[in-house]
Amino acid sequence: MITAPASVAITTPEAVGVVNVTAQIRTALQGTPIRRGIVVVTVPHTTCGLCVNEDEAGLKDDLKRLGAHLLDPLERHGPFHHDRIDDNARAHLTSVLIGPSAILQVDEGDLKLGTWQSLFLLELDGPRTRRIEMIFIGE
Ligand code: ZN
Repeated sequence: MITAPASVAITTPEAVGVVNVTAQIRTALQGTPIRRGIVVVTVPHTTCGLCVNEDEAGLKDDLKRLGAHLLDPLERHGPFHHDRIDDNARAHLTSVLIGPSAILQVDEGDLKLGTWQSLFLLELDGPRTRRIEMIFIGE
């Protein structure tokens, strides 16, 4: 079966930040009859992303710096064109690298994640209220 789309709003407190949203996905899963399958998680935004990684404070600080590390060399070739519009090209470009979606397995009615895995919303242009959308596919 495929569930009706579900969504949850997350208010991010920082301009650039990492928010663990695993519990929100798990709560939504518990409201479905799905015991085994997948959940497709997406964000309908262009300046944030989703990724799976370890919920460790130092690593989350490193993730917040990811965009700067990757984009500083690019900006040395000239200013970002999109900054003429609303001065957030770095947020858009980092979002492209992170991606707007994640697919997680569901097994025995729970998310099937590794011991150290969590699902993160990576905020790149906050603080804002973001919508996380989910659809569950399985039996
Ligand atoms: Zn923009």
